[in-house]
Amino acid sequence: MVEIRKDYFSDKLSITLPDRGLKPGQVITQKSDKCSYCAGNEEMTPPADLVLVKRGDTLLKQTDSEGDVVKNWAVRIFPAKAPVVAPNAPPSYGDAPHYSEPAVGYHYVLVATPKHDQPFSKIDTEQWTNILASLQDKVRWLYSQKGVSYVLVYVNSEREGTPVAVHPSIQMVTTPRVPPAVEVEAETVQSSLNDLGVCPMCQVVATETGGPRQILATDFFLAFAPWVSTHPYEYWIYPKRHMTSLLKLSQKEMMDLALMLRSTLGGMSKALDSPAFTMVFHSSSEKKTTKQIHWHIEVYPKRGQWTGLELGGGIYVSETTPEAAAQVLGASARKELAQLVGIR
Ligand SMILES: [Zn+2]
Ligand SMILES: [Zn+2]
Ligand SMILES: [Zn+2]
Repeated sequence: MVEIRKDYFSDKLSITLPDRGLKPGQVITQKSDKCSYCAGNEEMTPPADLVLVKRGDTLLKQTDSEGDVVKNWAVRIFPAKAPVVAPNAPPSYGDAPHYSEPAVGYHYVLVATPKHDQPFSKIDTEQWTNILASLQDKVRWLYSQKGVSYVLVYVNSEREGTPVAVHPSIQMVTTPRVPPAVEVEAETVQSSLNDLGVCPMCQVVATETGGPRQILATDFFLAFAPWVSTHPYEYWIYPKRHMTSLLKLSQKEMMDLALMLRSTLGGMSKALDSPAFTMVFHSSSEKKTTKQIHWHIEVYPKRGQWTGLELGGGIYVSETTPEAAAQVLGASARKELAQLVGIR
């Protein structure tokens, strides 16, 4: 039974999946060991409902039709083969203390590059702009669907060059309620706006600009290592101006964010020897009644293991200070940026 359960006391949620031998969003490979995300293997995935194709200087949005898949694509979006939520999840409601609700929703995959061996750290700014534009499109569509309260966008990337490293892709999972991590941020922003009339996240951006935790600043974005990092070398990317959603990015801001992502992910890969990482987009829900946040991206390199302090105490022990991490990531990201801007 696929259902969403809420903890006895806290807002912690769980989704329990039937045992199907697949991790959510895992790439399905067949016996031939062909990667289903690679160009040429399109028929191994469900039909794509958004395919970005480059024709000369223009980008066209297309859709796979029955028995006729779109080839030579730049970005491809289709339903996940191992979804964590489903539009037709069976009804299952439970009351406190065994609170539960059906895991109704949509799970889509965005393949970020047709090239299997092009890791996120090497995806160029033009392709990042294509990815962000396609994301905006699909996320906007998902919010128009019934029962969607939130669209969580995230990347799980394994260490580059290892057998577990899979084809770069982005997951989009919708949930019938705002995830607790976003809700906590939204409540903080809302109460600060109500009580003080200021966005606390705007204040954080102002405080971290030019400080010891700054990693990189572009025209519209700031990357910094947060004061409290849950993972060593964790970093956040914030729009400098108050902006509630990635759907509000203009074309100019999107190109600037592409430059920021390429520089910081490229920088992180070189500085930390191509680490595995998770990247999450925290954007406001598009539902009218929900509280808003100052949208941002959080990147967590995966290093070491959590102990009882983290798991049992919520206290994160780090092998490095955010200030030292910012120096290492900053130097590397600035080098990447200089090269990119030099060849533009
Ligand atoms: Zn592939
Ligand atoms: Zn703000
Ligand atoms: Zn956040």
